[in-house]
Amino acid sequence: MKMPTPDAAIVARRREIADHLQRLLAPESVIASDEERRVYESDGLTAYRQPPLIAVLPSSTAEVSAVLAYCQVEGIKIVPRGAGTSLSGGALPLADAITLGLGKLNRVLEIDLPNRTVTVQPGVTNLGITRAVEHAGFYYAPDPSSQIACTIGGNIAENSGGVHCLKYGLTTNNVLGLEFVLMNGEVVRLGGKHLDAGGYDLMGVLTGSEGLLGVVTEVTVRVLPKPSHLKAMMIGFPTSEQAGECVARVIAGGIIPAGMEMMDKPAIHAAEAFVHVGYPLDVGALLIIELDGPECEIDAYMVRIEAIAGECSAVSCRVSRSEAERLGFWAGRKAAFPAVGRISPDYYCMDGTIPRRRLAEVLARMEALSAQYGLKVANVFHAGDGNLHPLILYDANQPGELERCEEFGAEILKLCVEVGGVLTGEHGVGVEKRDLMPAMFDEHDLDHQMRLKCAFDPDHLLNPGKVFPQLRRCAELGRMHVHHGELPFPDLERF
Ligand SMILES: Cc1cc2nc3c(=O)[nH]c(=O)nc-3n(C[C@H](O)[C@H](O)[C@H](O)COP(=O)(O)OP(=O)(O)OC[C@H]3O[C@@H](n4cnc5c(N)ncnc54)[C@H](O)[C@@H]3O)c2cc1C
Repeated sequence: MKMPTPDAAIVARRREIADHLQRLLAPESVIASDEERRVYESDGLTAYRQPPLIAVLPSSTAEVSAVLAYCQVEGIKIVPRGAGTSLSGGALPLADAITLGLGKLNRVLEIDLPNRTVTVQPGVTNLGITRAVEHAGFYYAPDPSSQIACTIGGNIAENSGGVHCLKYGLTTNNVLGLEFVLMNGEVVRLGGKHLDAGGYDLMGVLTGSEGLLGVVTEVTVRVLPKPSHLKAMMIGFPTSEQAGECVARVIAGGIIPAGMEMMDKPAIHAAEAFVHVGYPLDVGALLIIELDGPECEIDAYMVRIEAIAGECSAVSCRVSRSEAERLGFWAGRKAAFPAVGRISPDYYCMDGTIPRRRLAEVLARMEALSAQYGLKVANVFHAGDGNLHPLILYDANQPGELERCEEFGAEILKLCVEVGGVLTGEHGVGVEKRDLMPAMFDEHDLDHQMRLKCAFDPDHLLNPGKVFPQLRRCAELGRMHVHHGELPFPDLERF
């Protein structure tokens, strides 16, 4: 994976730049020593590492604005960072860029229950929002498995999802207002507490923009009343294909569960060995299905789901009889990533989305690819959304194994696109899927996306090297013409 060549002149100015930043922020908020910069060298995609030029930790919107305005004038790149749990390398530092950590902006600013909104700074964790309102019987629905650590700013940037997004929508469906800072330091506010705003849907543009358009400094989200009842079912199947078929049939039957997750055999065994919650070890795949709402509705849906599962050759079905048991069903699913981390030296978490009705076929083709590449896969994913998370098991210490794993992962994502799906469901493109973007978008599509980027950040200083497979000057958009085999702008780096 190639990143843009660092600007040696900027790297040489590290000390001078750090001195200037210490005049904009508290001195302890500027991190320039070799040892301390190393703390920021990676995010959740640990296969790639690079200490930043400098890391800064602003404490207010005004400080974020001052840092960005200075960097715009000096031509210094910025990589925004929340908790660094991105699985696509979105927060991977660059040697000539400042990592802008938003962790100190961690205050809940307003709880407005009559409007059912909460306004927070971007460094508040996803779970922190629910914690702030649960005393009043409310919660924030999008729930990434990383919710104990990941920040709402990172969730906005990645348009993050989670178990409950099947019924309640992704981050983009739950954000009502944003404050963000443009690269030139200008502070912009979008939306508020109302449901919709006039004009272009700029909030939709910002949500999922992976830190390439602006730095989010304040967020207003919708919170929901906690459902009166919750029950979970755990249904075992001989094969993943049969479980996949059941998912498609439940949704086609008009039932939208609160969550519908699948684990295959390797994932079930890893999770059970880690959390000991009584997952069946003799099945090939497990569906965990949660239903919420009035008890009579839940019970009626459960009867129908059990019947559909029977038609798909289910071999076991357990329904939670208490809140503790329901949480137990979820404990293994929520801990599945670290659990798989115990059975393999390394794993690579992929994230592609497919139409639900192709689930069984794609799982079968992935198994064939696993044999072809000689690398095992554990599957644990948001089955109801068709959002796959194959975890490819590998050993980075074995020469060539990371490269084989990357090739295998690329094949899986191309397969997702081939069957009518997309490259990412919730983890973003980052650096991980950057070079696969042409598998999904042609040059004109990418040009249009780049025009949007140019409208926000014409000098490409915000998070460069991410999402776009080629660096392009805003001026050359639409004018790429290869003449006698010679590319225009030969000095422009292409990767
Ligand atoms: C164990 C584990 C489980 C996970 N499970 C899920 C899951 O179920 N669903 C899911 O969707 N994701 C999941 N993730 C991925 C990750 O947690 C999410 O992408 C999360 O939203 C990242 O938040 P963060 O605060 O860690 O952001 P970071 O990793 O720090 O940054 C992510 C991206 O956001 C940008 N960014 C961060 N803050 C801001 C800001 N304030 N303004 C502008 N840009 C910003 C960064 O530049 C980067 O591009 C998981 C990760 C792990 C490690």
